[in-house]
Order: sequence, then C-alpha cells, then structure tokens
Amino acid sequence: MTIILASGNSHKRKEIEKILPDHRILLPSEAGLTFDVEEDGETYLENALKKARSLGNQAEYPVLADDSGLSIPALNGEPGIFSARYGSEETGRNLEAGERNAYLLEKMKGVKNRQGFFVCAMVLYLSPYRFFIAQETMDGIITESPRGEGGFGYDPVFFLPEYGQTVAELPWELKNQISHRGKAGARIRSILKELKEHQ
Ligand code: IMP
Repeated sequence: MTIILASGNSHKRKEIEKILPDHRILLPSEAGLTFDVEEDGETYLENALKKARSLGNQAEYPVLADDSGLSIPALNGEPGIFSARYGSEETGRNLEAGERNAYLLEKMKGVKNRQGFFVCAMVLYLSPYRFFIAQETMDGIITESPRGEGGFGYDPVFFLPEYGQTVAELPWELKNQISHRGKAGARIRSILKELKEHQ
C-alpha cells in the first residue's frame, strides 16, 4: 500500500520505512502535497490527529501521522509535546539536536530522579470517519552526558538499563522493536494487514 507520512523528518521516515517494510512510504512533498501544520494541540494524540487530518483532506492515499516526544516527570513532563523545539524560546533560535541535548542535561543537573519516557501517538487516517490510533511508550533514564552515534534527537541521552546502552548505541533493528514508535508502528502494521485481508 502507498502511505503518505505526515512529516518532514527524514529520520522518522527511515524508521517508519523499516517498521512498515511492506508499504511504500511517501513524504508529502513527494506526493505533491503541502504540509504545514501548527502543532498547537495539548497532547501528542491531538497533534497527530491534526497532522493526519491536514493531509487526509488532500491525499488520495492513506495518511500516517505520528507525534512523539520525551516526557520527564522530574521536569513536570518537559520537554513533552514541545520536544522538537525545546529550548528555542529561551535561546531565541531553533537548537540543533546536540545543543538541545546539552540544554536538557543542563536542566537535569543535580536532579536525582532521572526517569523519563518517550511517547509516540500514531494515527492511520483513511477518511474523516475512519481512522486508527496507537499510542506507545518507552521507559528509560536520562544520562549525565551523551553517548552513541545512532538514532536521532534525544537518543544519545536516553539510557536503557536492561540493555546497558543509550538508544543511540543500539542497533537500529533493536530500537525499532522496543521503541515507542516501533511498538505503535507494529500495531498499525497489524491493522494494515487486517485491512488488506478484509477490505
Ligand atoms: P515531532 O513528533 O515531529 O513533533 O517531534 C518529536 C521530537 O521528539 C523529535 O524532534 C525529537 O526531538 C523527539 N523524539 C521523538 N522520537 C524520538 C526518538 O525516537 N528518539 C529521540 N528523540 C525523539
């Protein structure tokens, strides 16, 4: 099936392609669609639905939208739904991923409870009346310093005690099995399979 991914993030696209290997994933620009959504929802799910709707109304293919982020209880849930632009208000510019990680680690200086979790809300949107939702999480610990070269975003500062590695040190196949996006994607993968079998 051809699916339009409601995102301009090439890292996410790579992951989604691996998570849904039987499907052709197109970015909006590749399908000649305009994608410019203000992520002003109060939850991951609201934002994912908003992204899905904005493209679903123009696209002839099903749309897959994901909204994700890192929530840290000791920081009252920050960066949360603002994960992509964390630190930009305070610094007056959009930070690079490495700078954003440094900004986060500075905020976490001296914080004892270093638990955090990633969240991914994913919406498979077929029409305004027919869509499917999966939302998943991945638990971990915020490190004292970045480690690893893989993944993207906050992966170098997110440590998984059961693997003894940060997400950026994990092989991508493993990240895709255990991550918030990987697990939500697996649920969507089952739904797509079912839809194909019982159209
Ligand atoms: P959005 O879903 O496009 O609004 O962006 C989510 C932001 O959360 C990304 O830009 C990353 O900073 C962060 N994020 C989401 N998922 C991951 C992940 O799997 N690893 C690391 N950072 C992530």
